[in-house]
Amino acid sequence: MSRVPVRPSVAALPAYQAGARPSGRLVYKLSSNELPFPPLPGVLAAVEGAAADANRYPRQMADELTAAIALFHGVETGGVAVGAGAIALLGYALAAFVEPGDQVIYGWRSFEAYPILAGVAGAEAVGVPLTDTGQLDLGSMSAAITPTTRAILVCSPNNPTGPAVRRDEFDRFMAVVPTDVLVVLDEAYVDFVTDSAAVNSFEALGRYSNLLTMRTFSKAYGLAGLRVGYAVGRPRLIEAIRAVARPFEVSAMAELAAIYSLQMQEAMAQRVRQVVETRTVTFQDLVAQGWRVPEPQGNFVWLELGADAVPFAGACQRAGLLVRPFPGEGVRVSIGEPVAAERFLEVAATWV
Ligand SMILES: *Cc1c(COP(=O)(O)O)cnc(C)c1O
Repeated sequence: MSRVPVRPSVAALPAYQAGARPSGRLVYKLSSNELPFPPLPGVLAAVEGAAADANRYPRQMADELTAAIALFHGVETGGVAVGAGAIALLGYALAAFVEPGDQVIYGWRSFEAYPILAGVAGAEAVGVPLTDTGQLDLGSMSAAITPTTRAILVCSPNNPTGPAVRRDEFDRFMAVVPTDVLVVLDEAYVDFVTDSAAVNSFEALGRYSNLLTMRTFSKAYGLAGLRVGYAVGRPRLIEAIRAVARPFEVSAMAELAAIYSLQMQEAMAQRVRQVVETRTVTFQDLVAQGWRVPEPQGNFVWLELGADAVPFAGACQRAGLLVRPFPGEGVRVSIGEPVAAERFLEVAATWV
């Protein structure tokens, strides 16, 4: 037994529970909100090319990808930071702006990683309960602000429940958040949003100097395995993120894959449309079956099952579906292949 003391804030961290991985027989993996498709056309060849140079370090901060993202969004390169997934950038944002003992506010239940990242930063994590329709309660979140609050994490669409934050709600929220409190808008699922009233950070970024947006290539672009995401905001904020970021963490393979993927908007959008179609059918069917389902705006649906969450996930597994149970709360089911959605609906029908 080692006697080296572990920081109390680290000893108290909840463990990150990743979605289950398939083992053996044919299963549909609906447990991690990945796309069921392979990388976009041309991406694999680019990755192979970059792999041949694996004896070399990549660019220190993925400069080419940074420039490509800036061009794509029409912002200056100084306003973009690239990292090994949005998770890395969320951690950097807290490392750059939050002192131990400060408060970090987020809705709860929301993204699994938030309490862990807040804990690693030594922050006091404040999870504000969602509304009973699975939406972020931005009013209660702003009411929870105290003089020690340094950052607020807003997940839209919210993982795992699904609803997106509306633009008008977000503007009311930003109007009461002090301008020296960082607001992070986590838009990992923004490409799946169909509600035209939903917030879109690129309209908001110009108006709010305390706003950072986080996006990722892991979801709609189908590159979860390559680990690449980005943050956009005022250059002063981005500079601080770059100052704490680990150099070389985005591999040349990931950088090239993301650059190629960014150029294939139409192919990406077509896949997204397919997923959204399946999501719509799934949602409507669940409602018709009698389920109360929060409005899904990402590539997943949420069933609030309470104590039945784990047994329901077991029933799904027996039907060849890996889903993501949150014990005592509910089950998140990623939208992937239409045939997997059909099987899921069959299981759900036996359970209402
Ligand atoms: C998947 C996800 C991310 C992105 O994670 P990566 O590190 O980019 O793979 C960020 N936020 C939320 C809410 C997510 O669900």
